[in-house]
Parts: sequence; structure tokens; C-alpha cells
Amino acid sequence: MKFSVLSRGDHTSNKLKRKITSYLEDFNLSYDNEEPDIVISVGGDGTFLQAFHHYKDRLEDTAFVGVHTGHLGFYTDWTPEEVEKLVIHIARTPFQIVEYPLLEVTIRYTDGSDEDRYLALNECTVRTVEGSLVMNVEIKGELFETFRGDGLCISTPSGSTAYNKALGGAIVHPSLATLQLAEMASINNRVYRTIGSPLLLPQHHTCMLKPVNDVEYQITIDHLTLRHTNVKSIQCRVAEEQIRFARFRPFPFWKRVKESFVSD
Ligand code: NAP
Ligand code: MN
Repeated sequence: MKFSVLSRGDHTSNKLKRKITSYLEDFNLSYDNEEPDIVISVGGDGTFLQAFHHYKDRLEDTAFVGVHTGHLGFYTDWTPEEVEKLVIHIARTPFQIVEYPLLEVTIRYTDGSDEDRYLALNECTVRTVEGSLVMNVEIKGELFETFRGDGLCISTPSGSTAYNKALGGAIVHPSLATLQLAEMASINNRVYRTIGSPLLLPQHHTCMLKPVNDVEYQITIDHLTLRHTNVKSIQCRVAEEQIRFARFRPFPFWKRVKESFVSD
């Protein structure tokens, strides 16, 4: 089996990366940055997002596992003290795979340039660089509303505990293949009206955002920020692809939610 280790880059994470690498090599596993069977992320959820994007083109052949060198994360549930145990698990036991849904974002342009397709593990957010965001929101090909406000956030179930939560969105169990559309400060008065509540869409219900004005948009895909003009539409739906986690012990999602936000 081939593995790779991605570190946040701080001293503690780098040290742990070297430790994990040498332990796994002692078990005769080989380090392979290009085509690893298992990717070990060492750092925080942010590091895990980077690891995901690094290997997004070979998700079918990659299993991910996260070690946290700071607080408990949603993608990183192993502590530095547990790495010996983790390494033995990886080397010795066939692991279970747990799959989580992803968000597919397709951006199309008015100037005829090729569309761009992205996968998000947490979310996609859409804002303008200047002024209010004005977007027609279509669901399953029907106009649902014209949104005016700061922005929109479309999140995955596992991303529902990130930005989405700060917007008052629901926390969604990752066994549900859905996407959630949440508002950022919508303008609601006698003239403008939006639904005001976060929406959960099932698989195959496409959400299409269509700009009303041709302005510059700031679009984020997880930790990545893009700026685009000439945007014709931003299409969001549950992706065909899924992320695969290597699971060596149960750590239920609701327990992680409780330990992260309520108490441990
Ligand atoms: P960051 O600014 O360092 O991340 C913001 C926080 O979100 C960090 O504490 C990060 O954990 C945490 N986080 C990331 N994914 C999460 C998840 N699925 N569930 C719960 N918490 C999560 O930037 P980053 O580390 O590159 O992460 C990018 C993410 O930050 C974006 O995808 C977005 O969800 C989130 N974000 C949140 C807000 C907000 O809540 N108002 C604003 C902007 C961005 P770690 O410390 O372990 O990295
Ligand atoms: Mn971070």
C-alpha cells in the first residue's frame, strides 16, 4: 500500500508527519505523493481541505484520514498521541470506507469561454466584489426567487458545521446526499423578498444562480477564492463523486458535533 502525508506546515505537524512516515515505512508501506492509496492529513480541518483538493482528481482510489494538531476537527479525529495506534491500524488491518457527499459547482460564462467545474468538500459561497449580490435563484429549472443581499452559501452535509452554521443553517448528517442553500444578510422589505430560511435540496435537484447584473463576483470553493466577471450561471448540485474516509473505529458524527460545539 502507498501512502502520503500532508502537513499544515507548522513545527508540530511537520514533526508528526516525519514520525508517521517513518513508522509506516518500517511497516514496509511506501511513500507516494502522486498515487497514494491513503492520504493522512496532519493539522486542522483547513489542512484536510487542502489534502482533499490536492487529490480531487483521484477520489475513487484515495482514502483520507485526519490527525489534528490543534482542536478536534470535523475531518480530523485522531490525536497526535494516537498516531502509533493509527499507523498499526493502517498497516495491519483492512479498513472500512465511509463516504460523504460532495458539492459540484459548474460556472458558465457569457463570453463563450469554457465552463469551469469544481468540487467542494465544505461549500461554495457567492458574493460580489462591490455592492449587493442580485441573483435569480432557480431550483430544478424554475425561478424560485430573486436574491438581494450579501451573498449565498451552498454547503455539503459535512460542510454544514462550517460557514453554513455561522449563517444559521442546519447541521446535516453526512449520510444524507443533499446540499444546503443559506442566505447571507438578505434584503427583505416591501419591494424585495426572499424565503429567509435555509433550504435543503435532495440529489438531482439542481440549484442554478443566475446573475442579474454583469459585475465582478467573488466565489469561494472551500478555502479557495476566485474572482470572475462575465458569469452567466453558477450551477450547484450534489456531485456524483464522494470523498472516501478510512475508518478504523466508530466516531459518530453527532458525537463530533457535541464535542466540538457543546461539551466533551
Ligand atoms: P479558516 O478561516 O482557518 O477556517 C475557519 C474555521 O472553520 C476553522 O476553525 C476551521 O477549522 C473550521 N472548519 C473548516 N471546515 C470545517 C467543517 N467542515 N466543520 C466545522 N468547522 C470547520 O479557513 P480554513 O481552515 O482554510 O477553512 C476554510 C473554511 O472556513 C471554509 O470552507 C468555510 O467553511 C470556513 N469559514 C467559516 C467562516 C465562518 O464561520 N464565519 C467564515 C469563513 C470561512 P481548523 O481550525 O481546524 O482549520
Ligand atoms: Mn484553518
